[in-house]
Amino acid sequence: MTARILVVDDIPANVRLLEVRLLAEYFEVLTATNGPDAIETCENGKVDVVLLDVMMPDMDGFEVCRRLKSDPATSHIPVVMITALDQVSDRVRGLEAGADDFLTKPVNDLQLMTRVKSLVRLKSLTDELRLRASTTRNIGIEELLSRNFASEDTTPKVLLIDERKSSVERIQKMLRDRADLDVSSDPHAGFFQAAETSYECVMISTAFADFDPLRLCSQLRSLDRTRFVPIILLAEEGEEERIIRGLELGINDYLMRPIDQQELTARLRTQVRRKRYNDQLRASVTQTIEMAVTDGLTGLHNRRYLDSHLQTLFDRAVARRRPLSVMITDLDRFKAINDAHGHDGGDEVLREFARRLRKNVRGIDLACRFGGEEFVVVMPDTEGAVAEKVAERIRAEIAQAPFAIGQDGKTIEVTVSVGVSSVLKGVDTVAALMKRADLALYEAKSGGRNRVVAKAA
Ligand SMILES: [Mg+2]
Repeated sequence: MTARILVVDDIPANVRLLEVRLLAEYFEVLTATNGPDAIETCENGKVDVVLLDVMMPDMDGFEVCRRLKSDPATSHIPVVMITALDQVSDRVRGLEAGADDFLTKPVNDLQLMTRVKSLVRLKSLTDELRLRASTTRNIGIEELLSRNFASEDTTPKVLLIDERKSSVERIQKMLRDRADLDVSSDPHAGFFQAAETSYECVMISTAFADFDPLRLCSQLRSLDRTRFVPIILLAEEGEEERIIRGLELGINDYLMRPIDQQELTARLRTQVRRKRYNDQLRASVTQTIEMAVTDGLTGLHNRRYLDSHLQTLFDRAVARRRPLSVMITDLDRFKAINDAHGHDGGDEVLREFARRLRKNVRGIDLACRFGGEEFVVVMPDTEGAVAEKVAERIRAEIAQAPFAIGQDGKTIEVTVSVGVSSVLKGVDTVAALMKRADLALYEAKSGGRNRVVAKAA
């Protein structure tokens, strides 16, 4: 794993110390000895993780962190605060400032590497999503995220899996009004509950009499539905090894008992914030992809999608020696409809046509608006004779009932011509297949319209 780590400390010897250890693990290292330089480096360079000293003159680590986290250009970069003492108050201040994690001086090697690697992994997931979201749209990622980032204050839905009643009661009290908390006292039941409900964080106690809590963590990480849910481990003093193992398995954070209320709420807030950020990115990517392959007017797939998938469907059919048929439909005299009823009327006809088309094809068929008033349906596992029957059914469905236009009950007669072709045994290509369907469509048109023509060869 290569990543660029920025080490910030006002004492050059401390910088050097961390630098040497990170270089030994093949990380790329940038350095800064004061806050403003650190911020500038983050703004300019591709920093993957910041290791930030808390105690610095002029601008301290809390302030640096706060500034990084409040700027959309740098807010996604994970920050690890390095504190001189393991002080809860420092940790809480850091978490309030938006820090992602903590290390205590002198920095333990194993903890350093585990934390850095886990944050680098998270960062690369976020980067991937940011990249996809911003490149598939013509707007900046910052704008995209600033649009609907108001959800920060809503109460997060959290699941606590803990079999000790006294501990559950304490945590319930601490999170009252701060989380919508469900509790499961049984790890098996808790696993199913986590899979069934969409929680924004799952907290798992390590103190089961008869169950390995890490097994639960690994199960949650391997299930699709819970792969991205943040996990916080509630551990006991002396369980450092288990925590490190947990971090390797993908838990996001941990708390040591006795649990401090402020640290608990701050760490929970950090995890929920990160999850919401990534969820938004993911939703935006999905939406962008959908927009890119969908015809806005009819909701069918568009030509771009057909172009990218027809070859795949064709190759699969040939490889499996299965039939595949294609139909091209074209509304008859569509220009006259547009001329008589305007483009709005034309759009209504296209939408209604798409609705009737969709009703008559199967889920595995690929129906697309090819352009204008032309639609294509690709039918896997379908012989030519069957495809011809489907095409005839669609033709009849269009001709048998007139299309409504506008609000005043006006209707018009619409008909469609259809050309059908099928993949030939022996040598055939996508281009030839489409060409035959096109020729068949041409024959249907010149033969008088409102008819189906199939080309076997
Ligand atoms: Mg210092």
